[in-house]
Amino acid sequence: MTASFPVLGFDIGGTKIAVCLGCSDGKIIASGRVDNKERHPDDVLPELVALGRQLLADAGMTSTDLTAVGISAPAPHDIPGGRITQPTNMKKWVDVPIRDYLRDAFATTAYMDNDANAGALAEWFFGTGKKCRNLLYLTMSTGIGGGIITNGRLVHGHDYLAGEVGHFSIDPDGPQCNCGIRGCYEAFCGGRAMAQRMQRELAGQPDHPIVRYANGNYDAIDMICLEKAVRDGDAYAVALWDEMCRRNAQGIGGLINIFNPEMIVLGTIAWAAGDLFMTPLQQYLPQFCWPVQLRGCRVIPSGLKRRIGDYAGISVALNYLYEQDRFQPWQEQ
Ligand SMILES: [Zn+2]
Repeated sequence: MTASFPVLGFDIGGTKIAVCLGCSDGKIIASGRVDNKERHPDDVLPELVALGRQLLADAGMTSTDLTAVGISAPAPHDIPGGRITQPTNMKKWVDVPIRDYLRDAFATTAYMDNDANAGALAEWFFGTGKKCRNLLYLTMSTGIGGGIITNGRLVHGHDYLAGEVGHFSIDPDGPQCNCGIRGCYEAFCGGRAMAQRMQRELAGQPDHPIVRYANGNYDAIDMICLEKAVRDGDAYAVALWDEMCRRNAQGIGGLINIFNPEMIVLGTIAWAAGDLFMTPLQQYLPQFCWPVQLRGCRVIPSGLKRRIGDYAGISVALNYLYEQDRFQPWQEQ
């Protein structure tokens, strides 16, 4: 297969689902969104199919023109079985066989992978990491997920669970992680864990700048409130931010020594906060990995940024085709 061909991608999120019709050369033909906030899959799934068919029709195509459908899914899930199994913010999605549902609806091959792997594939095929043979992508949002590409292949692992880079302990006496392990990298640096820590440590301080940036609502405290307070020079915020950057360097430095990647692409916080995050991270990295490994590795923010959702599902489909030698990336870019 050499000429560019169309694929349909679905990026499943707890508030919205991106549906995107694209080409194997990276061209996005059309995309749309379906609301998924606290909705039942029985209502959402038919809308996904309807939107996918609409995008095809608007482009003068039908499902017979599709080579494959790809799904980027949040954990927990059953990748070999193609099922989504009740993610934290999708309580009504209990063991939903979405891959086979979309396969049947579009009468084509459908593939599913987790959202961090999908992000890694999107950056690898179409983003900052094009043509790298050894690449890591870290999601850096509410949690820390990862996708690992080694020797030009995505690492799936024995149970399709490889790449859980947020869940190795970097301090056995550290905070309890939501996953059950103490001191996970994510328990120090994930957006949700950071928010919980700020809520706890700022209790009874409604006039603190971080709380004011959340309009006095402790439940609304997040990394954006923290970033604003850091830019104001608030002492607590500056110290917490610095600690978070150093812990990120610990996590990322360990990954550099283990995988010897030529590039690590960082998601949300890295491109949203820019130099405020990247500069201290780069300064701390030499403490946590060997100079020879660090010299060969570029640690940079995602180039796709928010557009990664449009590429995520498509990239999952393309990777499975690549693994079957039915797709060669970068030929037409
Ligand atoms: Zn954990």
